[in-house]
Amino acid sequence: MKQLPAETVRLLSSSQVITSVVSVVKELIENSLDADATNIDIKLENYGFNRIEVRDNGNGIKAADVPVMAVKHYTSKISSSEDLDRLTTYGFRGEALGSVCSISEVLITTKTAADEFSTQYALDSTGHITSKKPSHLGQGTTVTVLKLFKNLPVRKQFYSTTRKCKEELKKVQDLLTAYGIIKPELRITLTHNKAVIWQKTRVSDHKMACMSVLGTAIMGSMVPFQHCCEDPEINLSGFLPKAESDSSLTSLSSSERSFIFVNNRPVQQKEILKLIRQYYSLVMRKDCTRLYPVFFLNITVPASAVDVNVTPDKTQVLLHYKESVLLAVENVLKSLYGPLPAAVPGESNKTDVTSEDMFAPRTEQTDVMVNEMGPSGNDDPCVHTSFLSLSSDVQNCQAGKNTEICLNHQTFRGDNVHSGLDKREVLKSDAFPDSSFNLLCEEEQNGQNLTDTASNGVPVDPKAAKVDERLLSCDSIDKIVKHEESLVPKSPPGISADHWSRGSAFKNPLGDNLEPVKILIPEVEGTVNEFQNEHNGDESNHPQISLQSTKKRNVISDKFGHVTGYDLISSRIIKKPKSAVGFFTEEHRPEVMADNPKTSMDDILLLIEEKWKNLNEEEKKNYEMKAAKDMERYNREIKKAVGQRGHRPTKEAEKQKPRLKASPSDQQKLDKIFHAQIEKKRKPEEPTKVVTVPFSMSSCRQHLQRRQRNDSDEEELFLIRCQSFPDVWIFATDKKLMLLNPYRLEEALLCKRLLTNHKLPVEKLDKPIVLTDSLVGGAQYMAALYKMQKDYQSFNGSSHLSDPRLVANGFQIIMIEGASAAESHLEIKGLANCLPYYGISDLKEILKAVVNGNAKEVYECRPLKVISYLEGEAVRLARQLPLHLSKEDVQNTIYRMKQQLGKENKGCVHGRPFFHHLTDIPEAYKHNSMEISQ
Ligand code: ADP
Ligand code: MG
Repeated sequence: MKQLPAETVRLLSSSQVITSVVSVVKELIENSLDADATNIDIKLENYGFNRIEVRDNGNGIKAADVPVMAVKHYTSKISSSEDLDRLTTYGFRGEALGSVCSISEVLITTKTAADEFSTQYALDSTGHITSKKPSHLGQGTTVTVLKLFKNLPVRKQFYSTTRKCKEELKKVQDLLTAYGIIKPELRITLTHNKAVIWQKTRVSDHKMACMSVLGTAIMGSMVPFQHCCEDPEINLSGFLPKAESDSSLTSLSSSERSFIFVNNRPVQQKEILKLIRQYYSLVMRKDCTRLYPVFFLNITVPASAVDVNVTPDKTQVLLHYKESVLLAVENVLKSLYGPLPAAVPGESNKTDVTSEDMFAPRTEQTDVMVNEMGPSGNDDPCVHTSFLSLSSDVQNCQAGKNTEICLNHQTFRGDNVHSGLDKREVLKSDAFPDSSFNLLCEEEQNGQNLTDTASNGVPVDPKAAKVDERLLSCDSIDKIVKHEESLVPKSPPGISADHWSRGSAFKNPLGDNLEPVKILIPEVEGTVNEFQNEHNGDESNHPQISLQSTKKRNVISDKFGHVTGYDLISSRIIKKPKSAVGFFTEEHRPEVMADNPKTSMDDILLLIEEKWKNLNEEEKKNYEMKAAKDMERYNREIKKAVGQRGHRPTKEAEKQKPRLKASPSDQQKLDKIFHAQIEKKRKPEEPTKVVTVPFSMSSCRQHLQRRQRNDSDEEELFLIRCQSFPDVWIFATDKKLMLLNPYRLEEALLCKRLLTNHKLPVEKLDKPIVLTDSLVGGAQYMAALYKMQKDYQSFNGSSHLSDPRLVANGFQIIMIEGASAAESHLEIKGLANCLPYYGISDLKEILKAVVNGNAKEVYECRPLKVISYLEGEAVRLARQLPLHLSKEDVQNTIYRMKQQLGKENKGCVHGRPFFHHLTDIPEAYKHNSMEISQ
């Protein structure tokens, strides 16, 4: 037996701690959180394998600690194992930085509050400092990890496929989501290859944090709970799906949104998860056993009651009184969903919890105990469970101050969660975006399954419209991702608003702008009937498709044999010489066409001919010279072509004589060449995917009838989301089909609302400003101020000007009454504090609008500075909207647009349009639908 070399030992143990990009990110952000950071930026390059940078604004590393910060088993967090009983930090083993150093190149830049400037340290594989230099960064620590797994080729190889890398990135995002929820006040940004792919802003509490990462639609279906036990001390809080919630909103096919925390540490607790899933599937009254409810559960127990040191990544913990914790969780579940039927514990194996739990298996006794308890489950006097309405803020155990004071009347908007990686989103194929699809294929769902018939089509099961358990495996996800990729033309990951509004956001593989929707108007003969024939069982022939394609081909074959402007000499294509008239025509055609825009091409040529005839000799000569030169070029090229052929050693070639005129056979060849080019252009290299969308005329009819019956007043909106482009929705009214950018619309609505009634927060001035005629620009303005509404008169004779036009614009003005009217005066007591250099000139703007512009409403007299501030706020708030809006959200936005914006549809704050007109719906269809619905 031999002892392993120290270097090998280090490598082996390190690669157990750091197993992937996500474990590096986890260790680094936990270090940042332990250093009290409130802002963490994570930047990855090449999925983290080239570079991982985690920057925080925490306490920094003290100069004295720097030499050992990355040396294994050095930590500033505990001194001995007893400290583990009081552990409040994420880290305690002093292993992470050292481990990262042994498998990559590490730079650490840090500055504490006491340091004058930051210093960047380069570290070697043992975690010792090799060099240092001053740096410009502010307080906090930045750890840069380069060339991860540089010395572990097999590990690196493991991540060599894009799929694995994408999965890794998704895991990083899920991890950050967990920390984002448990640390509401933490701001996080995740950047990959310089593009921000996910971010979370600072919010006041867990509810807001959940909203920002899960979205308002999901959080609307959740109920907050809190449960406290005294002996043993267990505190549970969080959010669970409401009993009556829609399972498609509150569950996923994987546990990525099932958040369990023990003492703020994201952990995997299979047994708790299993319990919650049991109750959830019971209440959903369907086979949800493979679904994972979305929930957030924070378990707080004394530090001494947990052992975190179980796995290298600390995601598994041992709870000392796990049975009590399970019981507490069960109590919450029972109060919310009712007790499990007696048979269920036995059946619980159905829930596919596969791996071993860290908990010891639950004893039979516990189950019995649970079943013996009253239905409320709260028999213990020391136990308190409460469910609160989501609108209340009290449920938040760590209720913080509302940081959004300026906008406290705003409804909450979730964070802009930038992710192209959400499995759930990926699972929902673009072809079947939402209920509008479900509705059309109701019939098919009940009846036969439709499969596609085109040979290269992607088979789509209509049932896939719902989150489909069968698509759970990574394999199928990948397939769908690929499918999406192939369906959606490759475009840069972020489509700029500009491109979108110009209609150039989507390109086909040839680079031409793509018209997302084309309405095909049925031809008169034959096709109409075919088109209207619903499900005649003869789908495999695809009558309309085959008809179209033969038509197209005909167009091209017509061209076959046409004389072109080229000759084919010795397999070389040579442009034919142009005549003098030809040159003249070429030069004058644009201008003649411009002068006669409605004239046909034949008449244009006649007009040009006329012009040519009237041309004077000298000018004609000019063109003849050009023609002569072109003839020279033609002859030269022919000579060259023939000469080249002459070099060829084939006898056959020698036999052939140069021909100045292309023979008909050459013309054929030439046509073939051109034809092939057109074909090539027509057929992109990637075969066009054909997706068969199940469509049933009768369910469409049924739907229309239902619609008619329901209410004829309220117009129903047809909305279809494009999963890959969250800011593009297809929107149809009776008359037209449009693209809608709900974010721009929401931004405009927010802006309008802010301009109408947002009150700027006011700060008291140290010294009031006494207003005079000259200060406000004239006596008429002072008079207007005196005339304004006042609220009350205090005992000292002063009254407050409560006119909303002043108050909303952040002016707190009081009138101090003197003995006579002449002795009264006005003074500004408080001013808006959110705008720099805000003051008298802005008051003047308001007064001018009031006096000269007769402004009665707040929005009519907003000073310019306020307008741009509020516009900025609207943009900021709109950016925090969740990336994936629900259909209801968008419907609601459109509804508010109609109510609030009326005809003034000027686009977003930047003037960009909300809608992009695609096409008008032909009259014929409108009549059809009328007939159907009657
Ligand atoms: P542990 O977190 O278990 O203590 P690490 O190897 O992760 O071990 O970190 C070693 C030490 O380096 C920490 O104890 C801490 O003092 C310091 N440190 C690491 N990262 C940071 C950071 N982002 N901010 C401040 N100190 C840090
Ligand atoms: Mg650590």
